[in-house]
Amino acid sequence: MARDIEEIKDRIAGCLWGQAIGDALGLGTEFMSRDEVLHNYPDGLLEYSQIVQDFHRERWNQGDWTDDTDMMLCIARAIIADKAIKSKTVAHNFKEWFRGIPMGIGQLTYTVLGLYDYESDPEKAAEIVWDSMYGRNNAANGGVMRTSVVGLWNENAAGNAERICRLTHADPRCIGSSVVISEIINSLVWHGRELSFEDLCRIGYQYDERIGMYIIAGKVGQLEDLKLDDEQTMGYTLKTMGCAIWCLFHVNSFKEGMLKVVNAGGDADTNAAVTCAVLGAKYGKKGIPEYYMQNLKRKDEYEEMIRQLTDILIEKFM
Ligand SMILES: [Mg+2]
Repeated sequence: MARDIEEIKDRIAGCLWGQAIGDALGLGTEFMSRDEVLHNYPDGLLEYSQIVQDFHRERWNQGDWTDDTDMMLCIARAIIADKAIKSKTVAHNFKEWFRGIPMGIGQLTYTVLGLYDYESDPEKAAEIVWDSMYGRNNAANGGVMRTSVVGLWNENAAGNAERICRLTHADPRCIGSSVVISEIINSLVWHGRELSFEDLCRIGYQYDERIGMYIIAGKVGQLEDLKLDDEQTMGYTLKTMGCAIWCLFHVNSFKEGMLKVVNAGGDADTNAAVTCAVLGAKYGKKGIPEYYMQNLKRKDEYEEMIRQLTDILIEKFM
């Protein structure tokens, strides 16, 4: 049991820094095939300053995070304001973000948040879009990409992850993968314990049996088996979850996992945001090379958010 306060603080910070760092570096290969990654980065993408400034990427500065962390911040700021996870505040923050310039926003999230009365019943808005536009068959990774911070709240991680996912994503695979990731983080941060393969299967199967296959893929085989750069399936929530689980079980450091996922291409910013949040919770801030924190574009405001949120979490749960 890791009840040591400094260790818990280090893991909270590691998780939050990991989210933004993975997102910011992953942007460098987002939507690329593995061949395109090799073409653009013959020696691998290692640093923000290497990120190619093509049509997709030039909208961001090198070292900026994208929508994944923007939406995670909507949740984090709601927690800081309410000292609780209130759906209403989170949904309001999502809508405010949408009204600005929501760069990188996914298609399903865009449609849901764009409904004019979204805030009056967000879960219903999500359900209607999933049902009417996608025939109840869209499991994009827009819920799982922002769920890390929900796992830091040390009370009902599964219920909260489900509730926050439902604000935009109704598919049981979206909900189940969000719960799995938040539970992994919650256990690492507050109990110093890595959930086992059996634990993960037990959690995942409660939501959708298709989740099981990707937990197995995370346990056995190679990262390449997930085919993260496959054009047809690259935004699939179970691929994102599977790649974070694969790294949890197979890599020996934060940096090793991050670089593997980033250089695999596909929906790399989201895959790396989730993976690095998990690895940050596992190895702590002390396991993250300084370069990646120091060179984040909006480092100072992010650091301040981490400080405020950590104070609230420690006060409430220690
Ligand atoms: Mg993104």
